[in-house]
Amino acid sequence: MTVSIDVPAAAADVLSKPIGHLIGGRTIDAADDHFPTTNPCNGEVLAQVASGTEADVDRAVAAARAALDGPWARMTPSARGKVLWRLADLIEARTEEFAHLEAVDTGKPVTYARLVDLPLTVDWFRYMAGWPTKLVGSTVPISAVATPGDYFAYTKREPVGVVGAIIAWNFPLMLAAWKLSPALAAGNTVILKPAEQTPLTAALLGEVIREAGVPDGVVNIVHGYGETVGAALAAHPGVDKISFTGSTEVGRHIVRASAGNLKKVTLELGGKSANIVFDDADIEAAAAGAANAVFFNQGEACTAGSRLFVQSGVYDRVVEGVARFAEQIKVGDSLDPASQMGPVVSDQQFSTVMGYLESGRQQGATVAYGGSRIGDAGYFIQPTVLTDTAPGMRVVDEEIFGPVITVQRFDDVDEVVRAANASCYGLAGGVWTSNVARAHAVADQLRAGTVWVNSYNVFDPALPFGGYKQSGWGREHGAAVFDAYTETKTVVVPTA
Ligand code: NAP
Ligand code: MG
Repeated sequence: MTVSIDVPAAAADVLSKPIGHLIGGRTIDAADDHFPTTNPCNGEVLAQVASGTEADVDRAVAAARAALDGPWARMTPSARGKVLWRLADLIEARTEEFAHLEAVDTGKPVTYARLVDLPLTVDWFRYMAGWPTKLVGSTVPISAVATPGDYFAYTKREPVGVVGAIIAWNFPLMLAAWKLSPALAAGNTVILKPAEQTPLTAALLGEVIREAGVPDGVVNIVHGYGETVGAALAAHPGVDKISFTGSTEVGRHIVRASAGNLKKVTLELGGKSANIVFDDADIEAAAAGAANAVFFNQGEACTAGSRLFVQSGVYDRVVEGVARFAEQIKVGDSLDPASQMGPVVSDQQFSTVMGYLESGRQQGATVAYGGSRIGDAGYFIQPTVLTDTAPGMRVVDEEIFGPVITVQRFDDVDEVVRAANASCYGLAGGVWTSNVARAHAVADQLRAGTVWVNSYNVFDPALPFGGYKQSGWGREHGAAVFDAYTETKTVVVPTA
């Protein structure tokens, strides 16, 4: 297939043929069932993708099981670490190809794919490469017997087994890395199901995985629809664990489907994060920070600071600052190096976001900036600032997952903490203040997995990340992620 976009040669190669699954180390194309992946900047078809079936999932699970019991189990922790490090190097060396594929598939500016998505992929593999040699157990003194020392007891950490990783379309490569790197570090094998809207970087990742010397079957990739491939993985008796990133609604499906064999489940779900600006904050930094917190990645970020709370004394200045920031964002084609924001990912997402904007207007919100489509090709939406918003409005209560911020005014700390916590979600939050004691106090009271003070969206492979309430189960990253990717075994041995 020929496409009219300018991408590096290796990326063009990915687009030149139908995209197949990676199963047991081989690329497998569907006999005749494909679906297109498109460029949201113009709706153009980029490539045809094999549409996975239950039988493909069965084959991938069998390959993952064989690899788990075979070559992967026989590799030393150090050798596993080396493979992960090599993967990081190979991805880094192909930054341009990956960044271009990610940009045309998701609509995000290539500049940001290069500066954000790629480092947040490479750094994860590098950080996790250090872990296989450090997953230690402990010796445990026990008192269940009369004489101390009658028994020698210890714990060890073992892989959970075959992991199904199901991910969203907003950071396709990065989310794949966030699942694969800890899963592999702990010695598991994986079947990855990329989002149907954004399969391209997973296809190139599959090539790189083979090049890095990952044994066949350790990583399998099955493309396709959530209702078929995703559901089959979630229900499969041969899958030991599902690691899911996506909507809260689908998270519930996963939990139900996993009940058959009671597989382990971790969930990274939606959010409606509160960003709170106090009177004593550095107002310029807070306004820019609040705008970035929601408009980054077209607002398609689970942590988006989509509910902005501003203390009365600085309300007008902050609203004006956020609106001015929105006005200056350069929205354009993902491959234009000047673009700071692209289109939302799909026709469907476009309709969802426009529907929210309409509901906001109908329920009495004021559009301080934006509110409209840009152009008539592609799925471009203006960064939008809504004021006069309140709980009870859909734009305030529900996750929009688009470039829309709602602003609410508050007077005192207790009031804003109560309002911030009045959400079924609890993924993240932000506090802007020059009062250190207040920053800590509010961080303490927010029911959210991550709180950023005078900053937002700072991620690191060493920092645990995950949701309170309906934003998820479990934590990713750091030492905490290994609770999700290992089983702890206790061994008790009589000493005589
Ligand atoms: P989604 O609709 O829940 O889809 C996520 C994944 O689940 C996709 O691969 C999807 O396949 C698959 N899926 C759909 N139905 C399924 C089913 N019945 N069984 C198994 N899998 C199924 O979410 P999305 O629209 O792609 O992503 C946006 C959501 O993800 C937002 O709510 C956002 O907050 C959340 N998110 C959370 C985090 C986090 O770390 N907490 C990070 C990023 C995004 P298809 O693509 O074929 O539908
Ligand atoms: Mg696409």
